Amino acid sequence: MSPSLLSLVFVATLLASLAVKFWLATRQMRHVAAHRDAVPAAFAETVTLQAHQKAADYTLAKARFGLLGTAFGAALLVGWTLLGGLDQLNGAVRELVLPRWGEMAYQLALLGAFTLIGGLLDLPFDLYSTFRIEHRFGFNRMTWRLYLADMLKGLLVGAAVGLPIAALILWIMGATGAMWWLWAWLAWMGFNVLILVLYPTVIAPLFNKFEPLSDESLKARVQSLMARCGFAAKGLFVMDGSRRSAHANAYFTGFGAAKRVVFFDTLLSKLTPGEVEAVLAHELGHFKHKHVQKRIASMFAISLAGFALLGWLSTQSWFYTAFGVQPSLDAPNDALALLLFLLVVPVFGFFVSPVFARFSRKHEFEADAYACAQADGRDLAGALLKLHEDNAATLTPDPLYVRFYYSHPPASERLAALSHQAG
Ligand SMILES: [Zn+2]
Repeated sequence: MSPSLLSLVFVATLLASLAVKFWLATRQMRHVAAHRDAVPAAFAETVTLQAHQKAADYTLAKARFGLLGTAFGAALLVGWTLLGGLDQLNGAVRELVLPRWGEMAYQLALLGAFTLIGGLLDLPFDLYSTFRIEHRFGFNRMTWRLYLADMLKGLLVGAAVGLPIAALILWIMGATGAMWWLWAWLAWMGFNVLILVLYPTVIAPLFNKFEPLSDESLKARVQSLMARCGFAAKGLFVMDGSRRSAHANAYFTGFGAAKRVVFFDTLLSKLTPGEVEAVLAHELGHFKHKHVQKRIASMFAISLAGFALLGWLSTQSWFYTAFGVQPSLDAPNDALALLLFLLVVPVFGFFVSPVFARFSRKHEFEADAYACAQADGRDLAGALLKLHEDNAATLTPDPLYVRFYYSHPPASERLAALSHQAG
């Protein structure tokens, strides 16, 4: 393929995705603003005007800031690729590291430098979102001290986990011949399974405290639900989510016999025991319908396709030159190909994302239906409303915006489906 044609296709796709993103965000903001003054009829008795307006303002603030982030991300992407940022970084790192420490160190240093620079450029956005937007709406509980400690720990864990797997994949790319992508994919899958095993017991406790659920009556209730659903878990834990944020959640972690149920303390403080049970029944519904397995299987399939594509692209010189990078003749280009791939592919992937969002929304309805069968549907409806209000999620999103982005159906649709099942 001609490099200049590919550059053109890339720029056109990037501009098209930007146009779609801005158009959708504008629609969403207009829709939310237009409905700000009245609570929708279906919620008139359960949601106050004040809560409704807070949700509208929070949604608008996040959407506006999101647009800034989108514009910055696109400019940065062009800076890294067509304007030669990655090429310059690569040249500097290669000159500095390659003669002294060799090929592997050079490639790891390139990945590390890129990740650090990317993280630093993202930092102002994250700070503004945490300490301004989340703070303004009363969600942030993070102190500066905790923020810095998190960042430091995140860096160390990222290096401890990321460098070995990066080194392994780079080694496979260089040492196993034309079919390297298949071996690299296998290594990547093995790594993901390992993280799944290590996350609940080794990584998550570095950031949060986990204590066994001590409320005996809730415990009995949850255990009887799990027995009813034929579900075994190794323990019920409460996590101090309130250290960082007022947002509430519950999740399953680990797999096989080592599964754990984790409740945020914020969730337990806001919901009644019946509502907690209904939320858990919803999560069990995801397991019963094998949503988790389906998600993992599709992730495996997509990454296989990705590695195969990268296996081919990395051998084509136009793949580098089209995106502003000169491949080296005297050093491996594997880290460079990896970075370029990770930068460029999401631009094309954006247009496929609604398909995944659609599946996800379908799964949510299925899990809700399961929860209705195993617990009280009215409790689930009550919990959904509380969580919605607590997260200041808008009750009046733009329908098209929902189709494109929402992984969960809007509250109005979920509650309508629930009342349908109950009646
Ligand atoms: Zn769900």
